[in-house]
Amino acid sequence: MKTNEVVRAWGKIIRGQKPSLSVEITKECPLRCPGCYAFADGHVGDGVNLRQLSDRRGEALIEGMLHLVDRYRPLHLSMVGGDPMVRFRELEVLLPALAERGIFVQLVTSAFREIPKKWAEIPRLGIVVSVDGLQPEHDARRKPATYDRIQRNIAGHRVTLHCTITAQMMHRSTYLDEFLSFWTSKKEVGKVWMSMFTPQRGEQAEEILSAAQRVQCVSELKRLRGLYPKLDMFEAQIEEFQAPPSSPQECIFAQTTQVVSADLTSEVTPCQLGGDPDCSQCGCVASMGLAAVGHHHLAFGVTAGKIFRLSSKVGIAVNALKLNRKAS
Ligand code: SF4
Ligand code: SF4
Repeated sequence: MKTNEVVRAWGKIIRGQKPSLSVEITKECPLRCPGCYAFADGHVGDGVNLRQLSDRRGEALIEGMLHLVDRYRPLHLSMVGGDPMVRFRELEVLLPALAERGIFVQLVTSAFREIPKKWAEIPRLGIVVSVDGLQPEHDARRKPATYDRIQRNIAGHRVTLHCTITAQMMHRSTYLDEFLSFWTSKKEVGKVWMSMFTPQRGEQAEEILSAAQRVQCVSELKRLRGLYPKLDMFEAQIEEFQAPPSSPQECIFAQTTQVVSADLTSEVTPCQLGGDPDCSQCGCVASMGLAAVGHHHLAFGVTAGKIFRLSSKVGIAVNALKLNRKAS
């Protein structure tokens, strides 16, 4: 992040606004990944899952999205789903309109469909492609977005690859190395980010890393970032996986990102995972990045996190004042 972007983000926080917006632009997805949090009951609160919402398409989606963006005025917008590429015709209109507004847009997809080559020219657009493991495991979990299809569909782009590490991957000590060796050799891959599977509280799933696997994973990622410069994770960020934020209130990522679901109205809380996530086992790469920034010492024992929390309190007070004025 550049200095002027940090200043703009801080300016929004101090006015009681969230600098990032994440929108589930559709409830549809051709994949059926095991452990998908978006389609879990309770994702959108009170037992409601994404499929139960009514989503939009065509003009209604385009207008609704632009209205949302003009209301929240985010510096950074993530478009997720479902899979946003289900609505690629609407994206053909939306992406240039968002670029004109100067917003950084991140489109998260399985790349089950070709990403139009001309999108590579859209400024401030980042494409993030989810790839979960080496080909045998990935293809079994994420067909029809198989390895072969992904490689065809990202041609002409420079994408960020995002992998969610599961317990199964940690059974082979060379697994992450093999994964990075394969994907970082591709010219279409500019960066790789790695998260760890984050369960809901009380969830039992074979994807959940044990405490020992988490320690092993942190040490392996620290080793691998020296071997693969495209692994775009700094050391302090990787170390945060060992002591994730204790609650959503302590999580800078959750506190700075507004998440809206496919009806463009319902909020997803406390973070983009929705439901009741187990922060103590959080593996979200974005949350770890901001936690590391929060723990960074600025001067005289003051951390960036302390400044954030103070600014956030000022923002809440500013909003309360505005509400009082409206009410009086
Ligand atoms: S691609 Fe994403 S939204 Fe679709 S099933 Fe898989 S995890 Fe869920
Ligand atoms: S991103 Fe992780 S730490 Fe933050 S609220 Fe969600 S589960 Fe908790």
